[in-house]
Amino acid sequence: MSAVDLVTVTALHRPTGRDDLHAALLAGATPLAGGTALHGERHEHLGALVDLLDLRWPDVEPLPDGGLRVAATATLRTALDHPLTAPIRPFLHDAFSCLLASWKIWSRGTWGGNLCAALPAGAGTAAACTLGAVAEIWTPDGGAREVPAAQFVRAPGVTCLAPGEVLRALRIPASALTARYAVRRHSLVPSGRSSSVVTGRLDPGGRCTLVVTAAVPAPQVLTWDRPPMADAAAAAVRGLPLWHDDPQGHPSWRRHVAGIAALAVVTDLTGDTTHPPTREASC
Ligand SMILES: Cc1cc2nc3c(=O)[nH]c(=O)nc-3n(C[C@H](O)[C@H](O)[C@H](O)COP(=O)(O)OP(=O)(O)OC[C@H]3O[C@@H](n4cnc5c(N)ncnc54)[C@H](O)[C@@H]3O)c2cc1C
Repeated sequence: MSAVDLVTVTALHRPTGRDDLHAALLAGATPLAGGTALHGERHEHLGALVDLLDLRWPDVEPLPDGGLRVAATATLRTALDHPLTAPIRPFLHDAFSCLLASWKIWSRGTWGGNLCAALPAGAGTAAACTLGAVAEIWTPDGGAREVPAAQFVRAPGVTCLAPGEVLRALRIPASALTARYAVRRHSLVPSGRSSSVVTGRLDPGGRCTLVVTAAVPAPQVLTWDRPPMADAAAAAVRGLPLWHDDPQGHPSWRRHVAGIAALAVVTDLTGDTTHPPTREASC
């Protein structure tokens, strides 16, 4: 069997509205967005799919408070190129570039699908956490609930979604549109899946956020009210309790390179050249 064949699937639901969607989900159908993760690996437990793209959610909408609502079904490419995301485009580009095969899946894979796939190397997850996004989740009773993006992915392959729920959108606060960002990635080989991704954000008021993904099983967010010294930030990152262990790198190596990345990210954000940034993205 080819890895891209979903040979157990016997039905594809094409919902026309929310009732159809939840009915299919509660009957056991699996949400299908871009399909790049679903078709990329063997999934032998799937019996039916429900195509979220049929719901035709608007890709990006402005919010009254100046923030943005990005549909879970917006592709990475659309999220990147949309006029409303222009203030964060350089950051989104750097973050999405951390995906293995990056631009090849940007026009098919969705931002929401990246969070829902819940891979440790989920660069869309890293971006959402760094932006301080909130996940808008549709519940089967017709309501909605909100979860910070940083709490959406719980463990590799595990999200906070309950049966019948679907990720509807990411809400990006207005404050995210005026911040500075920096990204550092390490992988065992340049074109390999990310082993460590550290993303950073500096708000105009001085609040600093570092997000560690890929090196850890689920996103880790560190915040300071004022920008930390680069070596203090590196020590804080290295002090995280749990490091991911898979063929993309040994936990102790991931801890080491994430610390180097934290140094470089804080240096980029603050202009502190006491510790020169590591420009080499892979090693
Ligand atoms: C060559 C290649 C390289 C890749 N590299 C990476 C990588 O480096 N890092 C990485 O994280 N991923 C990677 N992927 C996996 C995948 O492409 C991305 O995670 C992508 O963003 C998934 O989006 P999608 O729309 O294709 O999701 P799909 O494949 O459609 O769905 C992914 C999962 O999320 C669920 N889902 C999707 N949307 C929703 C929703 N709105 N609500 C509830 N559940 C939903 C699906 O049921 C499924 O379980 C790679 C894939 C390929 C083919």
